[in-house]
Amino acid sequence: MEMGNFAIGVDLGGTNLRIAAVDTSGKVLEKITTGTQVNRGRDHVILEMCSAIRDLTMKFRGLGHMEGIGIGVPGIIEMQTGMLRESPNLPGWQDYPVREEIERRLNTKVVLENDANSAALGEKWLGAASNVDDVCMITLGTGVGGGVVLQGKIWHGMTGMAGELGHINVDPQGPPCGCGSRGCVEQYASATAVKRMAIEAIAMGAAPELSRAMNEEPEFSSKVVYQMAVQGDQPARKIFENVGRALGCVLADLVNIFNLPMYVIGGGVSSAWDAFAPTMMEIVRNNSFVYRATAPSEVVKGVAGAPIHDDALPGRRSTIITRALLGSDAGLIGAARLPMIANGVKLPEQELKRA
Ligand SMILES: [Zn+2]
Repeated sequence: MEMGNFAIGVDLGGTNLRIAAVDTSGKVLEKITTGTQVNRGRDHVILEMCSAIRDLTMKFRGLGHMEGIGIGVPGIIEMQTGMLRESPNLPGWQDYPVREEIERRLNTKVVLENDANSAALGEKWLGAASNVDDVCMITLGTGVGGGVVLQGKIWHGMTGMAGELGHINVDPQGPPCGCGSRGCVEQYASATAVKRMAIEAIAMGAAPELSRAMNEEPEFSSKVVYQMAVQGDQPARKIFENVGRALGCVLADLVNIFNLPMYVIGGGVSSAWDAFAPTMMEIVRNNSFVYRATAPSEVVKGVAGAPIHDDALPGRRSTIITRALLGSDAGLIGAARLPMIANGVKLPEQELKRA
């Protein structure tokens, strides 16, 4: 076996804590999903996290140098202090010095990052965006996260809080959002929103099949709503059209603002792509003149679904809107990449370009 340095990536979600050892080529050496109840509180989570990190570090230390620890957290963070400032999904973590705490306990360098930014970096490194330098990623999970990667680097803004694409407004009169605003895209395109819209349709008496499913399924979720949509249930299909409409509005804005070569949609709800993408793409085309001017003539799917540019004119560049490739591992892999970047570990192609 080839010797290789590695790093530890941590994905701290609102419900799950996942930790992985990843080598510098991007190979996941081992992945742990702890049964940690994030709702048992901050100190418990920190303890579990540190213990799992120690175990993985011990296990792979014979392999090479441990580059450090990258942690993706849901919420807005302050890069300079390594502080989690606010997290609607992690009550009790407000203004908590995550980086300092873990560095103190483990005596290892820690890089703190927003979870969706980590996912964007993961997709840029090894996923859908590995062939472009600039990409916007929207993550559809419990909430809606976002990350902007420019010239291969996460766009942090002034303090590290940039890229909160989930809180782009699509309806000023819409449902209240955890961020304090109303009608953010998170209120239409997250798993939580899909479930809420289903419950609303049921309460209005407009969705008999969804109502039956809710009574039968103890774990009624966005997945059940998606299955109903696939089976042709009209109210369920309408809900995913709402998802598509909200995402289309946001993507049209992003295309107009950034004019990037690629926009990636990831997270659990992105597996309902076939249910929301037609509406989404129609809205993007209608609302963004920049998109219409750069729409690909045809997108051919290559290996593992990666988009291949098929432009009619030589030199013509087009806007690709596509699904993420790394699934739920994007954030974990991106988090592990953080300390490698901090240590100046180059990608193989960067080394090639230099040679
Ligand atoms: Zn919001």
